[in-house]
Amino acid sequence: MGTRNGSISDRRKVLYIEDDIGSQRLVQRVLEKHDYEVLIAGEGLNGIDLARQASPHLILMDINLPGMNGREITTRLRALPNFNNTPIVALTANNSPGYRERALAAGCDGFLTKPIDISRFPREVGNYLQGHREELEQKEKLEHLKLHAEHLVERLESKVQELEQANKRLRDLDRMKSSFIALVSHELRTPLTLLEGYSHLLDEQLGYGEEEDYPPGVFNLVQGLDVGVKRISQVINEIINVSRIASGNLDLSIGPVRVNDLVANVAALHREALAARNLTLARDDLAHLPLIEGDGRQLRTALSNVVENAIKYTPDGGKIMITARPVGNAVDVVVTDTGIGIPVEEQRRIFDQFYVLEAIEHHSTSKSAFGGGGLGLGLAVTKGIIEAHSGRIWVESQRSDDIERPGSSFHLLLPLKQPRMARAFEEE
Ligand code: ADP
Repeated sequence: MGTRNGSISDRRKVLYIEDDIGSQRLVQRVLEKHDYEVLIAGEGLNGIDLARQASPHLILMDINLPGMNGREITTRLRALPNFNNTPIVALTANNSPGYRERALAAGCDGFLTKPIDISRFPREVGNYLQGHREELEQKEKLEHLKLHAEHLVERLESKVQELEQANKRLRDLDRMKSSFIALVSHELRTPLTLLEGYSHLLDEQLGYGEEEDYPPGVFNLVQGLDVGVKRISQVINEIINVSRIASGNLDLSIGPVRVNDLVANVAALHREALAARNLTLARDDLAHLPLIEGDGRQLRTALSNVVENAIKYTPDGGKIMITARPVGNAVDVVVTDTGIGIPVEEQRRIFDQFYVLEAIEHHSTSKSAFGGGGLGLGLAVTKGIIEAHSGRIWVESQRSDDIERPGSSFHLLLPLKQPRMARAFEEE
């Protein structure tokens, strides 16, 4: 390969979209000998990307390609702003009747056949670069354009069918996964109840007393067993909760809920974790807010998950704030932290089941350690509970940054009234 005429940037750039390696090499060798710079793409989408990035002076287009064929790629390229005038030349082994016309109707400027004639090929490419164009009569062009359009629609139809089938298969797999998870959690629940019972019995037999009432070393063993069993129980309950929510089987037991009490309860639940991490939790006096209709226990779980995350994703010494205000016929409960924040593009997905942002190595069994990831179920459970109350949940955060800590605000919008519920209680 030589650069006879000055610098590399002066060389004419040719993009060749071709899947056959033999043809790629041959064309590359021949054109490079004539001082062209040759870029190669093995299939259409990659070819379109490369064309956009490199802005070639000319494109050689194989027609029979895997995925999008050469005519489809040409039509697509012609629709892009910078490829109106770039010569696109079909280069194909198929010379059957109508083939050339259809390539030209799809937007090609010329039609060359393979195998290439080495002695003529560089000159032919040069001619197209200098403006040579093969054109069809108007009538012929319309006829072939119609065939091209029909073919495109046919291909689109079969792709849509393929996608629908793939989508159905994914949905089936997702259903299978969900019922497997539900089954496993229920199976685990039974032996766990036994374990809980024995752990309780053990404690009872040993006298429920202070540490000094236990035989040496036994207090720690009993405590360790208790903590472990409680944690497994929490995880399994979370999973069962998620599978109920996913299958729309969350039973709500609706009654009057005081937002002020709800917030106070949740704050109390996390008192120890907050103190251990030197975090302050500020909350407004919410006694003036109207009562809402809801399932108090489920709403506590929902809010508690959000506060637990605020604790996990706020570095020691930070601040968490819970506020609430009436908005139309609802109450907007907001948990704001001074933590690491959440990237905008992830803000929808964090509410999906099993979705965790951080690398799995950071997974931690702790419910309060800074940055310790969980199972990725907390927000899915919360969202399920809020939506079962016909409410809405979303997060506002500018970005994720563990140095500057932009923080996050989770909004839980809860309607005052539950739509399908008869007024089962008198307002106080
Ligand atoms: P996990 O059990 O992993 O905490 P969640 O469903 O509760 O799962 O949360 C999903 C992801 O959302 C978390 O892995 C975390 O990356 C992100 N996230 C949730 N809350 C916050 C928050 N307050 N600040 C920063 N990131 C958060």
